[in-house]
Amino acid sequence: MGKRGRTGKFFSAAKQRSWESRQSSYEERIGAKGSGTENVYTPRDGFWDEDFTEGEDSTFANGVEAGDALLNYLLSLHVSGKLSAKSLCVVSWYASRAGSLGDVKNFAFRPSAPTGHFQRHVDSALGVNMKHEMSWRYRVDIPGHHKHDVSRTVHESLVTLPHEALHKEISADPSILSRIDSMELPPLYWQHELVKKSSEVVVPLAIYLDGVPTQNRDGALEFWVYNLLTYKRVLCAVLRKSHLCKCGCGGWDSIHAIWCMLRWSLTSMLHGVVPSERHDSADWKPSDEGRSILAGAAVGYNAIVLQTKGVDGIR
Ligand SMILES: [Zn+2]
Repeated sequence: MGKRGRTGKFFSAAKQRSWESRQSSYEERIGAKGSGTENVYTPRDGFWDEDFTEGEDSTFANGVEAGDALLNYLLSLHVSGKLSAKSLCVVSWYASRAGSLGDVKNFAFRPSAPTGHFQRHVDSALGVNMKHEMSWRYRVDIPGHHKHDVSRTVHESLVTLPHEALHKEISADPSILSRIDSMELPPLYWQHELVKKSSEVVVPLAIYLDGVPTQNRDGALEFWVYNLLTYKRVLCAVLRKSHLCKCGCGGWDSIHAIWCMLRWSLTSMLHGVVPSERHDSADWKPSDEGRSILAGAAVGYNAIVLQTKGVDGIR
């Protein structure tokens, strides 16, 4: 993609943080064990009070900006399943031949190419295996506004579940759990009822919310969960500020959906079991097939949230 990082807002977070990238890169280790605090992200003061709406509207954009707006639009249609990889490549092909500027040319692929080539081309232009990403990430319905919507609508967002990320980490290296014996944890941890009662290891976690200003003055709110045993951090969800609900709730309707998902995931870890239903009690989605099979299974450890940061500002 262009070195200006112009693929636009839709995927700008992906390039900066690798969040939309390969499965292994959504987890990053921060510093050596015991040094977690200096690398912790905090929301920029006043971020949520700033008005981004003016810079957000690309309706009358020209040149490169209009090209980027076109690509953002096509990518959002593609990710939400409304535009096939082939259509994305063919529209991009003719758009770039018609003179469209910006990174839309990276997605252009000749219309006569064999069918199987289009998804591969999209994946390579994004640096992401979309099919793989779509198949394992959890889907949360989030009320909000996208700029091509006339009014408030519900959009399906892909998130990484904290309990699944933790389980993946511990399954890969169960010896992580024994680190609890050599850790210096605050009295708060040892006084926790679960820690006193449980015969399993209780993994200490931290939640951090980070407000990230991105290009074109739009910003994003990131929800991170840290495993304090390893200081591995997982970016669970990202809400773009321009997509937040604008019904007068101050964006809360959108944030609340993520909050419910986090509460549900963290509660399941408190009990040491795989959730037995979706966070919203709705029917399992087709992408939840593996989850419905494991529903209610004990994982052999518990987890509690020991620390939060950046949470107060948005409650
Ligand atoms: Zn609202």
